[in-house]
Amino acid sequence: MSRLREARLLGLLAVCGFVSLGLAACQDARAAEPGFSGGRAFADLKRLVAFGPRPSGSPALAKSRQEIVRQLQQAGVPVEDDNFVAATPLGSVPMTNLIAKLPGARPQVVIVAGHYETKRFDDFPFVGANDGGSSAAFLLELARVLARRKNELTFWLVFFDGEEAFEQFTATDGLYGSRHLVARLTANGELSRVEAMILVDMIGDAKLNICRDYNSTPWLTDLVFRSARRLGYGRYFSDEQRAYEDDHMPFVNAGVSAVDLLDFDYGPNNSYWHTPQDTVDKCSPTSFTIVGRVVLATLEELEKTARLK
Ligand SMILES: [Zn+2]
Repeated sequence: MSRLREARLLGLLAVCGFVSLGLAACQDARAAEPGFSGGRAFADLKRLVAFGPRPSGSPALAKSRQEIVRQLQQAGVPVEDDNFVAATPLGSVPMTNLIAKLPGARPQVVIVAGHYETKRFDDFPFVGANDGGSSAAFLLELARVLARRKNELTFWLVFFDGEEAFEQFTATDGLYGSRHLVARLTANGELSRVEAMILVDMIGDAKLNICRDYNSTPWLTDLVFRSARRLGYGRYFSDEQRAYEDDHMPFVNAGVSAVDLLDFDYGPNNSYWHTPQDTVDKCSPTSFTIVGRVVLATLEELEKTARLK
């Protein structure tokens, strides 16, 4: 997470009607499948954090990238490297987004994304368990679940490099991976295939509290929060409004519906954020399970609307 401005504003209500007739059999089959395991995601988190600080361009990030690719290959999920060189305040830095692609019955794409690098700090070792680790671990477990299913929509799980600023977060320092990907998808014409983007960031916090993001697309935010309430997880998804500038913004600015699921209440007064306190013991498998189930329920709602088109 890079920066936030608080804006306590009322959310817009979006009315989305969904028809569930004829889907009961499919849902029954899915209910019998092994679901999202917060325990497996937590094991991934521990493996990634064990590489130490993982800033962009570092050998430790290259090792965690190899681990992510290894886990995806074990799950049978094809993954592409999206290599680029970022112009940063510290000079040119090679970066790599990883894009796991799960083809569905339809060509329309829903992206679920998070960043996998950690912010560079020279004065202390920052291992970023929650900030950088949790989103990557979450995506690995989501890939395993989606790989076992026949999916209606095509899913791309994107592990962004370069979310964090090298100095101060500005329009040109930070969000390197997401800005690059949106530019590339715009240039090659693929952005029009992307129907929605769900971003996760700092969702491993043992005291889970995800607020509504004013910068996110209202109808998609409503869909996520309604799914959370339906699953009995409403208390973890607060109606308090914040405004986050995160990897969803290049998509929002390009006209793609996107939502940022971010818990920016990490420790007392957010005191674990970007500090040596951001360690695995502050995270919980239960938080991964909750967010995993909510994201999967949201994806299923998006698949229902795709069927109706
Ligand atoms: Zn951060």
